[in-house]
Amino acid sequence: MTQDSPERLAADLARYLVQQQQDGTAWYYDEGPVAAAAATPRAEAPTLPADAVTPAALRPPAAAAAPAGPEADAAASAKAAREREFRVECERFVRETLAQIRSRPPAAVAAAPAAPDLFVAPAAAAAAAPVPPSKRLALEGLAAEVSVCTACKLHPTRTQTVFGCGNPDARVLFIGEAPGRNEDEQGLPFVGRAGQLLTDILRAIRFERDEVYICNILKCRPPENRDPERDEADACEPFLRRQLAIIQPHLICCLGRHAAMTLLDTRASLRSLRETVHFYQGIPVMATFHPAALLRNPHWKRDTWEDVRKLRALHDALLADAS
Ligand code: SF4
Repeated sequence: MTQDSPERLAADLARYLVQQQQDGTAWYYDEGPVAAAAATPRAEAPTLPADAVTPAALRPPAAAAAPAGPEADAAASAKAAREREFRVECERFVRETLAQIRSRPPAAVAAAPAAPDLFVAPAAAAAAAPVPPSKRLALEGLAAEVSVCTACKLHPTRTQTVFGCGNPDARVLFIGEAPGRNEDEQGLPFVGRAGQLLTDILRAIRFERDEVYICNILKCRPPENRDPERDEADACEPFLRRQLAIIQPHLICCLGRHAAMTLLDTRASLRSLRETVHFYQGIPVMATFHPAALLRNPHWKRDTWEDVRKLRALHDALLADAS
């Protein structure tokens, strides 16, 4: 093979993709956003090689990481500076959010533990506790109620209800606005390309899909995937409240503007909602982009990557706080 032969490029690409799989960031460049990423500096992944959005990424990892002149040095330096800024911002977010949570009633919160390293998985996080059978049974009973619900105008057009899936004892619950066509057909939330992207994002922050819980605010698909209407959300909210009361997550992540707006009953923009933590039924709520929106707008992936890393850091800090 010559230096630039197709075989050589293919082999280099394969090695590079393996590297991405290993560091959990492959999702960032899925769905062909390379051109879009190269077009906007906001799309550069904070933890990937500085030249990862250029054809140079097709080199073997060692070659890609090697200094390639002043431009590469400047890019690496800028990337390192952004990562430092992000870590400071992330630590501030977690510290202030913990203080906010502790100040809320009931205020019976144990003394603060030693500050956890926000970027290293605590050993306790990996320990899977057995799911109480009562939670599983309670969710099954609630799902049976939902499956025959006719409380709003969405019931005649659904194929089936989409209740939710995942760990009944999950610490983190991800919530979208409503089922789409694939979900309506399969009876499961977040399937298809957007669902696969969500699975990849979860893996990138060291969550398996069956470790968290995933559901929607509405349990039935709105026709033509239109936005949920207020009367539909109001009719379906009692199911969500009961679902949350059973699961008792420590943290909720809204996926998309409509999920956040509906859950938090606000007209605020997703950009402003992403900046801080909110509360629903006393549970901390964060917001980020919907995976389907990321498929359409890959340049939002960088913001999403920072959001989910903050979420993981807050999750780990809450876990340390509870132990
Ligand atoms: S969306 Fe909710 S309230 Fe409306 S019919 Fe379906 S389950 Fe019932």
